[in-house]
Amino acid sequence: MEMQFRLTGYFRTSGDLSAAADDVETFFRTTAVELMKRGVPDGRGAVVDSVECVNDCIHFTVVSDRYARAHDAVLRLRKPLAALIGKKYRIGIRKIEIDSYIISFPSKKPLKNKIPYVKNIEYTNEQLILSLNVGEAEIENRVPDRIISLIEDKIRSQEYGGKAEHWNLLWQSEKKQHENDIDPTKQLLDARWIKRGASRGQWIHGPQITKLFRVFEQIVLDEIIAPLDYKEMIFPKLVTWEVWEHSGHAKGVYPEIYYVCPPKTRDPEFWEEVIDHYKVTLEVPIDMIAGKIDKPIGGMCYAQCPPFWMFLKGETIADSSFPIKVFDRSGTSHRYESGGIHGIERVDEFHRIELVWCGTIQQVLDESKKLQECYKRIFNDMLELEWRTAWVTPWFMAQEGLTGLSEQKEVGTIDYEAVMPYRDDWLEFQNLSVNGDKYPGGFNVKSQSREQLWSGCSGIGLERWASALLAQKGLNIKDWPDVIQDMYGEMPEGIKFL
Ligand code: ATP
Ligand code: ZN
Ligand code: MG
Repeated sequence: MEMQFRLTGYFRTSGDLSAAADDVETFFRTTAVELMKRGVPDGRGAVVDSVECVNDCIHFTVVSDRYARAHDAVLRLRKPLAALIGKKYRIGIRKIEIDSYIISFPSKKPLKNKIPYVKNIEYTNEQLILSLNVGEAEIENRVPDRIISLIEDKIRSQEYGGKAEHWNLLWQSEKKQHENDIDPTKQLLDARWIKRGASRGQWIHGPQITKLFRVFEQIVLDEIIAPLDYKEMIFPKLVTWEVWEHSGHAKGVYPEIYYVCPPKTRDPEFWEEVIDHYKVTLEVPIDMIAGKIDKPIGGMCYAQCPPFWMFLKGETIADSSFPIKVFDRSGTSHRYESGGIHGIERVDEFHRIELVWCGTIQQVLDESKKLQECYKRIFNDMLELEWRTAWVTPWFMAQEGLTGLSEQKEVGTIDYEAVMPYRDDWLEFQNLSVNGDKYPGGFNVKSQSREQLWSGCSGIGLERWASALLAQKGLNIKDWPDVIQDMYGEMPEGIKFL
């Protein structure tokens, strides 16, 4: 079974067609057939099923396979048809009207969701039958094509097993005896190194653990930033829809965003009733506030690198600037992790250093190798962890047909995982991704030489590094690796609670 498109509609013209009917119908049986098969494999493409001129309308039904889809075929006819009836009969084409557009699709499963511009979906004989509600504007804007991609994505995602990513072990360190087998969050709470923040999945980090975060940052500065020559930048932390449209996050990030809404106005009078309400009741009137704020303009930083790309967007960059190597550690990342939050391991507000590099394909792959070596040295010789790496193909890559490159282990992500002895399981504590041309393409960045640009990024989660180290070594500084003890120095005195 194949995909089939069946479009019934008419061209509305500026005059009665009785004189032109023969020419029009001949056009549909000859020229139109040629036009609709242009650039399409033999025996494929669109055919005219019926055509009839009635008053000022040219009614037609066009049927096609996935080559030269029916709506494309019809758009191709418009100009030559207008030329024909314009020259000879002084009649113009006013509009294309669509009576019905039916697309059938082979699929192993029905579709649950509603889809924009689709008025009805049926499922019979392993076929999805969509009835579209589109007009001329929508077919010109390629809406049917995007509906098809969307459904193909949904079908492929069912085959992908509903998983966010595919996982393959790359490398594993040797097993270790661990000083600790207790949940580090529990220990941190007992020792009062951390306290819960007022928001969900948020912690207030006391002086002792903050100092450890700073040791981690120093390691990254000494072992990666300095030798590999990364330059520090400050990336925005409020991210607008525009950024996520370019980065591709607009395709799926919605369930995990912390949304940001600006006030409708900063006029104090407009807000006075909120202020008064609070002063009288000592309750913040959130429903009243909801009526006074605008729609979300975006969300708080989710992945760290997308807003950086606005710096390069639309630019042509001198070859001498490549590889570009920058990093950001200027603020928090926020994700609505829902029921998944767990201690300091999975939080809604976290701290991360993000490295971003961009250059030719070779430069990007070489940089990834160098970073992998740096990380290996850090986790083996400095943090002395039991850890492993895995090759994961994120769903967006499968979605964008990049799985081939993923099989060659070029485009894709390496997850770094540490064993958590207290729960005998692994925790991803950072990752390293080669993203192919996703970002340079999405943000339209070009190189002077026009050689294709790729990019990579690596997110170093400080809460995750701390979880890994403390889960394996505990809170007792004497049990920490020598390098870490030396860098950490004296334990700062915490705040004493009575
Ligand atoms: P996970 O599978 O654990 O949810 P992820 O695949 O969502 O991780 P990425 O989007 O790859 O994570 O983010 C990169 C890094 O950011 C992670 O390796 C981790 O260090 C950190 N990170 C992501 N989500 C969280 C979180 N909720 N809490 C703490 N750190 C996080
Ligand atoms: Zn990134
Ligand atoms: Mg996640």
